[in-house]
Amino acid sequence: MDYLPIFAKLESRPCLVVGGGDVALRKVHLLLKAGIDVTVCAPQVDARILEKAQAKQLKVIQQCFSSDLLIGKWLVIAATNQKMINQQVATAANKLQLLVNVVDAPELSSFIMPSIVDRSPIIVAISSSGNAPVLARLIRERLETLLPMHLGRLATISGEFRHRVKKVIKNVSLRRRYWEKLFGNGRLASLLEKGQTDNALKLMEEDLTSDVAYGEVALVGAGPGDPSLLTLKALQLMQQAEVVLYDRLVSSEILDLVRRDADLISVGKNAGNHEVAQSRTNEMLVEYARQGKKVVRLKGGDSFIFGRGGEELEQLVEAGIAFQVVPGITAASGCSAYAGIPLTHRDFSQSVTFVTGHRKPDGDALNWQALSISNQTLVIYMGILEAEEIQMQLLHFGRAKDTPVALISNGTRPDQHVLLGKLSELVQLAGGVQGPTLIIIGEVVSLANKLTWFNPETHQKLSRDPFLVNLN
Ligand code: SAH
Repeated sequence: MDYLPIFAKLESRPCLVVGGGDVALRKVHLLLKAGIDVTVCAPQVDARILEKAQAKQLKVIQQCFSSDLLIGKWLVIAATNQKMINQQVATAANKLQLLVNVVDAPELSSFIMPSIVDRSPIIVAISSSGNAPVLARLIRERLETLLPMHLGRLATISGEFRHRVKKVIKNVSLRRRYWEKLFGNGRLASLLEKGQTDNALKLMEEDLTSDVAYGEVALVGAGPGDPSLLTLKALQLMQQAEVVLYDRLVSSEILDLVRRDADLISVGKNAGNHEVAQSRTNEMLVEYARQGKKVVRLKGGDSFIFGRGGEELEQLVEAGIAFQVVPGITAASGCSAYAGIPLTHRDFSQSVTFVTGHRKPDGDALNWQALSISNQTLVIYMGILEAEEIQMQLLHFGRAKDTPVALISNGTRPDQHVLLGKLSELVQLAGGVQGPTLIIIGEVVSLANKLTWFNPETHQKLSRDPFLVNLN
């Protein structure tokens, strides 16, 4: 370890910032956040710093650096754009054994400032010890997405509640269990997220005095496969879950992001071949929630689009179990974006309709006449097994034979495959696909592939975001 990570309590302690420009201002902001008694020294000082001096938030000494300014200071930051002065500050500070940071010059610094994720009072500091600042920044961005905004409030009210817990639960390990259970309680998280601090405190008190376990279910849309299409909320819930019930459509890359010690249960299904009957899935959701578990029901795409999300929720409502629904990117959005097919276009299509090829055996027939009107886009989920009927009905009701069609398999995944053709060839094309496949029919398909990610330097078209960094 090249650096010792510490959190220094410098509230009300005098520190010096040498420099009066933008960089100094950034440092000043941070120091003031930590309640530090800041003095800024520079011959020329930015108006925004002067404003702060006027508001008595800091002191300004408008002169060149001289080493006597270091007397009585706890640390010093050199943030001028002049190497000589920065060097001078570093030398003087070292002589006094004072911690010094020279911005962007680790070789002159006895401490460096980390990247931070601020959920005060929770603060995460990240440093690559000066080796790879961009990597440190990526890690910080990843942590920003993982740590919910209400984390700070959670830590604050826990701090306030500590004495009360100590009084009621005398045993140390029982106390630890109380906190662990509390921090894993999805209801507490969602109350804090909504800013309902009073209700959160009430819940903490209830938990303290009763043994009631609260489970809850989150119905989470996992998107079409590319993990970077998950919503932040989905990711956070996946990281908190104790049990995850997932569908066959959820990609393994996404399952890798679930909390390591969560129970992963496959309730995968294919059209017509239900591995776990829907009714059993509904029951399991209720059972796990009743055990007080935080359950995530992870579904491909969006749960409310051909995902039977509604049916599962009805069961939860009946059982009186708390739940929330997190939308996901549906296959139509994901596949069309990654295949360069805009679903609507002012020249080609004024509406888009999502239909399913697979319906209950006794379900209503589709209105083929309405679906055959030109200038509209038709997106068909679960349509491969029904390709013959789709082709026949659309042609019968007058959709042109040469209407462009796209069959997108494994959309947004590394093995995405796009087959293009005409409506009159649909059956033939459907014979050549593997994996989950979406059918898009309409004039917009003629734009396919023209509008995908494009790198002007290499003249290469890419089907997936080339900048995805996997930090797992
Ligand atoms: N709730 C899901 C759809 C479930 S129905 C959603 O909103 O996307 C299952 C059908 O969705 C599959 O038969 C296929 O037609 C389509 N589908 C889902 N993921 C897909 C993907 N990655 N690529 C292509 N089609 C997909």
